[in-house]
Amino acid sequence: MEQNRKPLIAGNWKMFKTCSEAADTAEKLVKLTAGVNDREVLIAPTFTALSDVRNVIKGSHVLLGGQNLFWENEGAYTGEISGQMLVSAGCSHVIIGHSERRQYFFETDETVNKKIKAAIQSKLIPIFCIGESEKERESKNTFSVLDKQVSKGLKDFSSDDVKELVIAYEPVWAIGTGKTATSAQAQEAHLFIRSLIEKKFGKMLAKSLRILYGGSVKQNNIAELMSMPDVDGALVGGASLDAETYAKIVHF
Ligand code: PEP
Repeated sequence: MEQNRKPLIAGNWKMFKTCSEAADTAEKLVKLTAGVNDREVLIAPTFTALSDVRNVIKGSHVLLGGQNLFWENEGAYTGEISGQMLVSAGCSHVIIGHSERRQYFFETDETVNKKIKAAIQSKLIPIFCIGESEKERESKNTFSVLDKQVSKGLKDFSSDDVKELVIAYEPVWAIGTGKTATSAQAQEAHLFIRSLIEKKFGKMLAKSLRILYGGSVKQNNIAELMSMPDVDGALVGGASLDAETYAKIVHF
């Protein structure tokens, strides 16, 4: 973790929690992480719980994110949510291209690119997820997969467009599996991603860009991961669902 990149700890609540459960967890999290100002804390509840969660975190340090968006602002797109709708629900960030969306909802690098564009136009900070599968790692294709995901996902953007972008490196084999990348594996991938950003957008942006690690982050591995120079935070799934557990990760 570089001192000039403020760490971001983001909780992805996936398809868990009713409105009241989400509000209750968020309220506890606000209390348990009160006073934290050297890192950013974010939660991304389901769409239905955004408004209730917004009410309990209002005025606090806890930030709100969406888990997905559609690239049009409005229209006949049953079941979809736009960037401006997320903003109106109090979101500052949005997760884009999570591997579960790529796997179960057929998102591609091209649709991810459109979604990042829509997020930027709505003034949302995209948390752009990339990462290789187990098979791709075993066949030594990790770097080529990351290269393709970054170049296609960030196609046709200027460095100004992506100045606030956050990238989440999430090896698919580590998500929800209890297998975590070693800190050395995470550092190697993050450094590679930063070099891709430098080639595409220049040194300045590469230096300021935050790259989060995601994949079975827990209380017992967060400190080690965060000790790596190119790990600037974490995207936490399962371990963010309980306020006490998540607060311990925030306080790593
Ligand atoms: C995630 O959902 O982005 C994630 C990393 O999940 P988990 O922490 O449960 O592996």
